[in-house]
Formats: sequence, structure tokens, C-alpha cells
Amino acid sequence: MKPDVLIVGAGFAGSVTARVLAEQGRHVLILEKRSHIGGNAYDWLDENGVMRHEYGPHIFHTSSTQAVEFLSRFTDWYDYEHRVLGWIEGKLVPIPFNLTSIELLFEPQRADHLKEVLIREYGMEQKVPILELRKSEDQEVRELAEFIFEHVFKYYTMKQWGYTAEEIDPAVTGRVPVLVSYDDRYFQDSFQKMPDQGFTALFEKLLDHENIEVRLNTEAMDHLSVDLDAHTISLDGAIFEGPIVYTGLADHLFGYVKGDLPYRSLEFEVRSEAGQVQPVTTVNYPTPAEVHPYTRITEYKNMQKEAPKERTTIAVEYPYAYHRNGEKGNVPYYPVFTDASKASYEAYRSLAEQIPNLYLLGRLAEYKYYNMDAIVDAALALGRELLEKE
Ligand SMILES: Cc1cc2nc3c(=O)[nH]c(=O)nc-3n(C[C@H](O)[C@H](O)[C@H](O)COP(=O)(O)OP(=O)(O)OC[C@H]3O[C@@H](n4cnc5c(N)ncnc54)[C@H](O)[C@@H]3O)c2cc1C
Repeated sequence: MKPDVLIVGAGFAGSVTARVLAEQGRHVLILEKRSHIGGNAYDWLDENGVMRHEYGPHIFHTSSTQAVEFLSRFTDWYDYEHRVLGWIEGKLVPIPFNLTSIELLFEPQRADHLKEVLIREYGMEQKVPILELRKSEDQEVRELAEFIFEHVFKYYTMKQWGYTAEEIDPAVTGRVPVLVSYDDRYFQDSFQKMPDQGFTALFEKLLDHENIEVRLNTEAMDHLSVDLDAHTISLDGAIFEGPIVYTGLADHLFGYVKGDLPYRSLEFEVRSEAGQVQPVTTVNYPTPAEVHPYTRITEYKNMQKEAPKERTTIAVEYPYAYHRNGEKGNVPYYPVFTDASKASYEAYRSLAEQIPNLYLLGRLAEYKYYNMDAIVDAALALGRELLEKE
């Protein structure tokens, strides 16, 4: 097959775009450096019968009907509402912090009073950013806000991002809401379901099309060369004229000429245990690193449709600075936004704009955090744009 379109990466960005184009008769070649499809949403059934998410827990939640309609062609769904508990002063309380969290952490009379104050100030079923609580005119609200900030946000953020408390921009933590509610779900989206047979099975169907060829274990940069003077990209020595949808790292594509883009990485210590070890899928540890050096523990079977009873698999999550050649922390997970990193990314984007048939798409190529539903929407839009351009 001589490809009309070249795609780098078989995650949501690359796979959804490929499907849209393939269904309109375009021959699509996908180069994927990993040994599997699915990108960071890749999951697999391990020796305990647990559907393990290789790159951290992925929960599908959305209010986008377009993403649901598209993906539902490739999977059935089962209901799953994600709940997270936080380890605070030795107790497990709902995260986001809500009225139940107050009841669990304060004496009954004090808890009733604090709840009354919050409901009076903000009303029931409201999401209030912690920054707003901290600026309240009511002293009791401010005191509660300081408690929540200290016990829920401060150390978690320090561990997650590797900053000291002083370096953390208050806006980073300030946006996280406190819920004046008893709703203990982590997400409030209208659609909260998981793919019936897992994400990898969804990708298998998505990519199962006669016009799509996927080459696994294929590092794209071993085959592509970028010519910035001629504004072209060659595939195995021949200029590729059709659209190139690139979903890998922007700095990698351009040989790091504008410096390395900073990322936060993660390492997962995976353990096999008996029975069930925690009441919900994810328990956060918003404690200082000296108390718990990790940020959270995920027990995958708690979000499974038919979970095994005898054994379980948990993943203890340790954030790391990203080093592309490091022994640890060599997978880029979250962009680290600073003025300098945003400027470097813009420099890469300007280089990309000089190549007319190159399209950067996805969490790596666009240096941006995307939820799965959002990247599905973006890939559907790019697919349509490419078809209209022809
Ligand atoms: C820890 C974590 C938890 C998350 N949890 C959720 C969640 O609960 N819900 C949610 O909606 N979203 C979640 N997300 C976001 C979700 O992972 C992204 O929306 C999704 O991965 C974006 O898809 P993508 O195709 O842009 O990137 P990716 O999934 O990363 O796919 C990119 C693909 O390109 C390949 N690639 C890169 N460079 C090259 C190269 N040079 N040559 C060949 N192949 C290459 C990679 O191997 C990868 O397979 C989470 C993200 C993280 C980091």
C-alpha cells in the first residue's frame, strides 16, 4: 500500500484521525514506536485477571456527545463512577474535599457548624475554588480553607510537580475546587462509563480497517528526516507529499534544536496482593514526602466490570523529573508549564508551521493536557479538516 497519509503515534490522536481518513478511502500508514497500540490508554489483562492500565488509571468521562457517538461504534460500555479518597490525618476522606470530608475530620458539633457556614456563604451543590475560600471575608471559612489547603493541596502539589511550597504558583492549586455537596464522585460529567472490554480492545476495532496499516516497534525518527530549508519531511529518503499527522514530542521531531521541553514523569511500583486492599480505585496521599514518598495508589480491579476476587494488582505512583535518556522517569507524562517552556514550545510550533503538510496533534505534539474525550474531538476535527482541504 502506498500511503496517502502518514501518522506518527497510535494513541487516540493518531488512531481516530486514521479512522476518519480511512473511511473516506485514504490509505493511512501509522508508525508507532511502542510494541502496542492505544498510546497512554493501553490496558491489558494481567496474571491476576486484573485489567491493568500500563500508564496510570484512565477513566472515561465526558459531556461531549460527539466523542461518545464516535467511540460507541467501536465499543460497548459499562457504568463506572470514579471515587477518590485522600489519606488525611490517618483517615480516608472524599476527594475533592466535600461536606462528608468535613464530617469525617471534625468533631460533630464543629462539623455541623462549618457545613452551615459554607452552605450559607456559597449554597448547596456549588464548586468553590480553594483560592476563593482562602480570600473569604469570613474568618471561619478562611481557617477551614487553610486546613484544606495544607492537608489536600500543598504537599500533593509539591510531590506531583517537584516544586517547594514557595515556588508553587497559588493559581495552580487555587483552581482545584472544594465541593459544597455530598456528591463524592470525582467527576460530574453526564457520561461516565468505561469500554466494555477495555481501551486496547476499543483501539483494535478502531484500527481494524483495510485502509490502515500500523507498524509497531517503529521509531518514526529512524525513518523521517525534516528539511527546514526545503520545508519538507522525507519518509525513508523520499519526500512525503501527503498530510503528516505527528502526535509525538515536538522537540524530538526537530532534533531538540530549541532545547528540551520539560515534562513531569511517573514511575509505577506494581504489586500483586491478596483480596482487595482499598475501598476505592484511587487513594491519594496528600502528605509530605517524608510521610509518604508517593502521590497515590491505584487498585485497578475496583474499576473493572467483572473483578477477580482472590488477587489484586495495585500501582504505587511516584512522580519524577523527566529525562529522555534517564534510567527512571523517561516517559513524558505532563507538560511542565513555565514561561520558558511555553516560549520553547512556541519556537517548535513556528518551525512546524513552515512545513505545509505537517499537522501537530495530541498531548505531546501540542504540549498540552488533553483528556481522552477532548483529544477524540480534536482528532475528529482534524480528520474533517484534512478531507475538506483536498
Ligand atoms: C497519568 C495519566 C492519567 C490520565 N488519566 C486520564 C483519565 O482518567 N481520563 C482522561 O480522559 N484522560 C486521562 N489522561 C489523558 C490521556 O492519556 C490523553 O488524553 C491521551 O493519551 C492523549 O492521546 P494522544 O494520542 O495525544 O497521546 P498518547 O496516548 O501519548 O499517544 C501518542 C503515541 O505516539 C507514540 N509516539 C510518540 N513519539 C513517537 C515516535 N517518535 N515514533 C513513533 N511513535 C511515537 C507514543 O508511543 C504513543 O503511543 C491521563 C494522562 C496521564 C498522563
